[in-house]
Amino acid sequence: MNLLLLGLPGSGKGTFSEHLEKEKKMLHMSTGDLFRKNIDNKTKLGLDAKKYLESGKYVPDHITIDMVKDYIKKNNYFDNLIYDGFPRTVFQAQALDDFLIENNSKLDKVIYIDIQEEIVVNRLKNRLVCSKCQSIYNKKTKAPLKEGVCDFDGEKLLTRKDDLPENIAIRLQVYKEQTSPLLDYYNERIFNVNIGDHNIEEFIKTVYDGLKI
Ligand code: AMP
Repeated sequence: MNLLLLGLPGSGKGTFSEHLEKEKKMLHMSTGDLFRKNIDNKTKLGLDAKKYLESGKYVPDHITIDMVKDYIKKNNYFDNLIYDGFPRTVFQAQALDDFLIENNSKLDKVIYIDIQEEIVVNRLKNRLVCSKCQSIYNKKTKAPLKEGVCDFDGEKLLTRKDDLPENIAIRLQVYKEQTSPLLDYYNERIFNVNIGDHNIEEFIKTVYDGLKI
């Protein structure tokens, strides 16, 4: 089964993916992480993508779609994959459906994490990410054991440039314009979970029970 996690930036897609990887042995593909790795490694793709990531805008569809197709083909990730952050436009969604059909696969379910905007703004403002393993922390609700340092590998924790307040506003706007139409596109494949400010355990149980996974 292939799953897509859909929701505002900061809705918990990354954190929920970590659970699915551990508990359900699913594979995880975050396009944001793939772009950031390319930027760190100074590849051509990274150089092309950098200005979009830093300003909170979307990388153009053709660059993003080519990167995803390459990644899936190279790793043979046609099944058991969590799509985190891709597709984000209807054009990408159509391209993915076509690509998966060509390869005898499909996107089975779309988990829509329904959450209030003010909750995600608060989370993004306080989010810290490990510069090495990408583990996610929150200054208020999930602080690291030692300030500024990752619990797992001791590397420095950073605030992403796109989590700066001015860029958060842009990301929310871009999401509304370009990503929210996916709710209509996926229509029957949507599993809607209203998270409110529920804890992650309740949220996970609702999803596992609802999808019977
Ligand atoms: P994320 O880590 O998922 O919040 O993604 C960080 C940034 O990577 C986004 O703000 C975009 O600039 C870029 N990005 C990630 N996924 C996509 C996508 N599917 N389409 C276009 N840009 C993307």
